Amino acid sequence: MGKVLIIGAGGVATVAAHKMAQNPGVFTEIMIASRTKAKCDRLAEDIKKRTGYTAVATAQVDADNVPELVELFNSYRPDIVVNLALPYQDLTIMEACLQTGCNYLDTANYEPKDEAHFEYSWQWAYRERFEKAGLTAILGCGFDPGVTSIYTAYAAKHHFKEIQYLDIVDCNAGDHHKAFATNFNPEINIREITQKGLYWENGQWVETEPLEIHKDLTYPEIGPRDSYLLHHEEIESLVINYPTIRRARFWMTFGQQYLKHLEVIQNIGMSRIDEIEYEAPLADGSGTAKVKIVPLQFLKAVLPNPQDLGENYEGQTSIGCRIRGIGNDGKEHTYYVYNNCSHQAAYEETGMQGVSYTTGVPAMIGAMMFLTGKWVMPGVHNVEEFDPDPFMEQLNQKGLPWHELHDIDLEL
Ligand code: NDP
Repeated sequence: MGKVLIIGAGGVATVAAHKMAQNPGVFTEIMIASRTKAKCDRLAEDIKKRTGYTAVATAQVDADNVPELVELFNSYRPDIVVNLALPYQDLTIMEACLQTGCNYLDTANYEPKDEAHFEYSWQWAYRERFEKAGLTAILGCGFDPGVTSIYTAYAAKHHFKEIQYLDIVDCNAGDHHKAFATNFNPEINIREITQKGLYWENGQWVETEPLEIHKDLTYPEIGPRDSYLLHHEEIESLVINYPTIRRARFWMTFGQQYLKHLEVIQNIGMSRIDEIEYEAPLADGSGTAKVKIVPLQFLKAVLPNPQDLGENYEGQTSIGCRIRGIGNDGKEHTYYVYNNCSHQAAYEETGMQGVSYTTGVPAMIGAMMFLTGKWVMPGVHNVEEFDPDPFMEQLNQKGLPWHELHDIDLEL
């Protein structure tokens, strides 16, 4: 049915590519292109071994460089480009899509490298150009953002006349047996968590200190976990697309060990994203030279690679939406829709842990929605703007089944 070009060969790309290969009727050809071609080649080999799918090409590309991307897109001619590199590359990849007539999908919104700040305005600015070109751009199609926004769209379509309170709850109750490790790219993860908290209430944004607000929330099959209010990107588009929402918040669980390490990392300056001068030894051993490094990027280089956590990862993730509002019968109702995902099962199927799995599967389904003509809408759109039903159906079939609870105590 269609050709897909994946950019990035990390944890999320690995899962998305495996899942695409499991659906050869939709994904007739796949190219994996990233900064390090050897990683793309290894991934292509692994896919062949696990699934028998052979229509995988690989390429080297610097996704910060628009002319390089344009050349690659023109030579491969994909129907859709699936951006699973880092949020820094969103705009260059979107620009290259426009120049070459390719459709676009990503899982995280744009973030400038020199400022730990994310918002959709940069990508929404491309709306008119995509619309005029007749191209579809699907933004935020991972789990959160992604499935959480689709859960909200599904609740609005089937259960609520008016959604008034939305709490997105994200629990990772897994244990990777490392003293400290992040579950996806450490640089992006630490930038996200050390930011100020932000939530929407009564028509305005309320700011908190980083990790200032927290409470115990009970997760299905897991139990109570301390959950912290964070700023998360899907809230930004959801409060616009569902203007009846009075309050929208995002919660994520962290263990004390993780928080203790994070505090030390911040206190000793290792979470800094500005350049510092470092006296580095020369390769030929003849002395030293001053080089510029970004402490957080250096830290990433010494932390465990999230892609290597899978083998000993136990436990599961549980991510969902807790919603309160006026139901179709005119009465107040509560609703909880969620998925639990086992790290071990994800590892056995794709070689990656649950956090990469819960992001890569929705990215694959989003591309499938586009290629099967269900999510084709020229312009730049967040996932909740599309019909949630065919996507929800695929979640059940492709490894991320969801469950609903009605009229329960939401604890929030
Ligand atoms: P990884 O760091 O494992 O992978 C990123 C990949 O992008 C690497 O292969 C890297 O190359 C490649 N890359 C980085 N810079 C460039 C560049 N300039 N040109 C070409 N390739 C580049 O990250 P993850 O797989 O964990 O995360 C991927 C994306 O998914 C991120 O944007 C992350 O924010 C998002 N995400 C979204 C979630 C959601 O639920 N919505 C949850 C988790 C992640 P190299 O191998 O050479 O370093």
